[in-house]
Amino acid sequence: MPKILIVGGGYAGFYTAWKLEKHLRKGEAEVILVDPLSYMTYLPFLPEVAAGSIEPRHAVVAHRRHLKKTTVINAKVTGLDHANKTATITPEDGEPWELQYDQVVVTAGSVSRTFPIPGIADGAIGLKSIEEAVAIRDRIITNFNRAAALPAGPERERLLTVVVVGGGFAGIETLGELRSFASALLKDYPQLSFEETHFHLIEAMGRIMPEVSLETSEWVLKDLAKRGAYVHLDTQVKDATDGNVGLSNGDVIPADLIIWTAGVMANPQVVRSSGLPADERGRITTQADLRVIDADKNVVEGAWSAGDVAAVPDLTGGGVGGFCVPNAQHAVRQAKLLAKNLVATLRGDKPVDYFHKNLGAVAGLGLYDGVFQSGKFALKGFVAWVAHRGYHGLAMPSWERKWRVIWDWWNNFWLGRDIATMEKVQQPREFFEEFASRPKPAVAAAPAEAPKAEAPKADAPKADAPKVEVKPEKAAKSTGKPKAEKVSAAKAK
Ligand SMILES: Cc1cc2nc3c(=O)[nH]c(=O)nc-3n(C[C@H](O)[C@H](O)[C@H](O)COP(=O)(O)OP(=O)(O)OC[C@H]3O[C@@H](n4cnc5c(N)ncnc54)[C@H](O)[C@@H]3O)c2cc1C
Repeated sequence: MPKILIVGGGYAGFYTAWKLEKHLRKGEAEVILVDPLSYMTYLPFLPEVAAGSIEPRHAVVAHRRHLKKTTVINAKVTGLDHANKTATITPEDGEPWELQYDQVVVTAGSVSRTFPIPGIADGAIGLKSIEEAVAIRDRIITNFNRAAALPAGPERERLLTVVVVGGGFAGIETLGELRSFASALLKDYPQLSFEETHFHLIEAMGRIMPEVSLETSEWVLKDLAKRGAYVHLDTQVKDATDGNVGLSNGDVIPADLIIWTAGVMANPQVVRSSGLPADERGRITTQADLRVIDADKNVVEGAWSAGDVAAVPDLTGGGVGGFCVPNAQHAVRQAKLLAKNLVATLRGDKPVDYFHKNLGAVAGLGLYDGVFQSGKFALKGFVAWVAHRGYHGLAMPSWERKWRVIWDWWNNFWLGRDIATMEKVQQPREFFEEFASRPKPAVAAAPAEAPKAEAPKADAPKADAPKVEVKPEKAAKSTGKPKAEKVSAAKAK
């Protein structure tokens, strides 16, 4: 039986496996999916998870629950030797091992693209994983708790300040959702006022959300500003050390939470270690039927790619530089076609080219607020928010998952968001350890003139009894004092 290896079980990988299970006949091929994570993450829900509107576990799809005919391996693919059709599988524990395959599908997605700005790598957080979304939610609630215990002043305001970097869809949705979350939290914190909470987004370009029209993007700027969330256009982050975000215009924003959403790049580790042909932006090059091609446009037999990691030609003419933009709309549709094409080639049939006209873009900007654009047609505010929830509620794979997410929305509509922070889950042993009984320390060697110490009893604790090691907690935030500078008025038009 031919073996199909799928590298990465996110949007494109999960859908490829799901559809292969549907299209393959019994015994026609074996499908193996390798991903260090045991679930596919529905990334468009991350801003809502960070804002407490969706339970984190409900925004991911467990591979083993929904891929019943696929062999799932939780490990990293750390190398491909495509000439010999061998992959190196590196599990969390134990030694790397080799896996033979006949067809490989590389769908390892993208990672946050950052620049070497002081303080960003050590102090900021991305929003590309469910873990980051949970950490952001918990940090906001924890900061509200900490701020409420302080007298009014700069340290309190620093705890209540969030800076988002990057004004694409993900950044704007994050800013809007978090502003909405913080405004809702305030009713449970009588010690804190709206004026003490600050939400800023820094964008290097002169506009936000290139996927929508200029007019719609300007409406979003005004809408956010009305709600107390400010976008700084034509501005760059120059420094983010000591809890202060220094901007190119000289302003400094003291902030405890810096969220980086300024772009993505094809997963460089996987692309490099795969040895497959890549373009100058580090994406695996494919032709329109999703088969990998080299620089001379020759097909690399037995290799396929799709999603954010791939440079797939956009035959509609709408893509950037002639290629599909990295989004879920493309990743899902490419994966569905890839599965069909792969089965077709196994059966000696011809694969079909990928062609998908953009359906438009829809974004949630917080509870009851959103924006939608398709061609010249735009919806704003409440109707767009309904469209956003309707679209994503239905786009979530499987009814089992759809139901859980819709149930979260329904519960929150009547009961409000859950505002308990689970930040302590990062150090779960702290509670136990504080009062845990330990072996007594070893008796110190007796001085020469002192009487001879008795021989230890058989059941006495040994000096080298194993200690329970506790990993030091990662320094999640800076300890520096905030500067007193005031932030200039936002440049929102
Ligand atoms: C906050 C946010 C909001 C978004 N909102 C939208 C939206 O509203 N609409 C839209 O169309 N798009 C949206 N996107 C973009 C969309 O989610 C991505 O384009 C899509 O997830 C790409 O799918 P993918 O399969 O290529 O990558 P991913 O879904 O990222 O999956 C990649 C997988 O590869 C795995 N992997 C990584 N390294 C290895 C390795 N060495 N070995 C094996 N596996 C590996 C990863 O663990 C992951 O599971 C959003 C993105 C973000 C971050």
